Amino acid sequence: MREFKEQRKGLHDRRIKKPRRIVDQASVCTECELCMDYCTTYQMTGEPMFSPLHRLQTAVKIFEGEDVTPLMLESMYNCPKCMQCEAACPLKIDITSIVHRAREELVRRNLAPTDRHNAVIEGIIERGNAVNGDPATRLDWLPEAFLKNESDTLLFLGCLPSYLVKDAASSTYTVLKKLGLDFMVLEDEGCCGTYIYESGRTDLAAEYFQRNVERFKSLGITRIVVPCCGCHKCFKYFYPDVLGDTGFTVHHAVEVIYDLLEENPDLLNKVEKTVTYHDPCRIGRGEGIYEEARKILTLCGTDLEEIERNREEGLCCGAGGGIRSVYRNLSMEIATNLLRKIPNESIVTSCPFCVFNLGFASKKKDLGKQLTYITRIVEDSLP
Ligand code: SF4
Ligand code: SF4
Repeated sequence: MREFKEQRKGLHDRRIKKPRRIVDQASVCTECELCMDYCTTYQMTGEPMFSPLHRLQTAVKIFEGEDVTPLMLESMYNCPKCMQCEAACPLKIDITSIVHRAREELVRRNLAPTDRHNAVIEGIIERGNAVNGDPATRLDWLPEAFLKNESDTLLFLGCLPSYLVKDAASSTYTVLKKLGLDFMVLEDEGCCGTYIYESGRTDLAAEYFQRNVERFKSLGITRIVVPCCGCHKCFKYFYPDVLGDTGFTVHHAVEVIYDLLEENPDLLNKVEKTVTYHDPCRIGRGEGIYEEARKILTLCGTDLEEIERNREEGLCCGAGGGIRSVYRNLSMEIATNLLRKIPNESIVTSCPFCVFNLGFASKKKDLGKQLTYITRIVEDSLP
């Protein structure tokens, strides 16, 4: 088995579980307001309730059993968990975890999730994906006939790449094959279940996660490679949060491809293109994967044009945390705001959800941006 580098430690390794600790941690906020200038939803809406500071106060009220208004509920569910607040907070308050625990508390008090969340969850349970895709077409992206194989490494494509951003699935598959990684894919992959967890339905997420873990164990899978930042966060943090040890490690495709290319940096043909790399929140701020993606693109011969807010300060695409399905207009405004800050037409990123949401907003607003998943550039550069 080819060794991978040790699974890195990300921001989400700090998890808080007990309500008392949540209230304690939320209460240390000094109301310095440093997070306000960075908060995606506050900056977009100007609504104080949609800011980190007020979300902390609202979470405490929810845990203390106060009546919950529709605005309070919305403030817990329209946060895309972009973690810009956590990067800015001098006290390093675990704001997104507190928001999440408040969602769970709302579910416990029978006040959530919303009907829209429930419709998506129903789709996941019935069809094994979060995007209403037909399971019979799940492998339509596969560039060759499906061959059942065995490996300790699973390439888990995820719902978005399998159904809506198929180029991310096919180019990730092809690049990993061409770089000589031994891996398997599942014909009936199913969903990682992140949406269920994000909705606050931890009870249901636990059952769903457990089924996946048992299946992976029975297949001898000890590591999972994913192109999707949502799957990455879910397998790496949400599964252990709910189930404890899972028996597998989790690696984003960018980390794996970077390691494989490092061994053979002259392998690639150069593509002549100037692109802007968009840092996805979950593997950027969440994992610190900034330079690997840029180095991959440089090895492919692209010129990189940075925007003012990049890396740790990178802006959110507005799709995460379950907000796109429930607060579509807000998600679209966040995406449009980001696109307007990128002068370059060609934008590359390492998250299929960013490709999808930014691509959708560009089309709707006629902004003329071309969104590309990073492995497409690598595939085009491979001999
Ligand atoms: S995670 Fe993002 S949107 Fe949510 S409170 Fe923090 S900065 Fe605001
Ligand atoms: S930056 Fe931290 S301490 Fe300051 S208001 Fe925001 S959450 Fe509170």
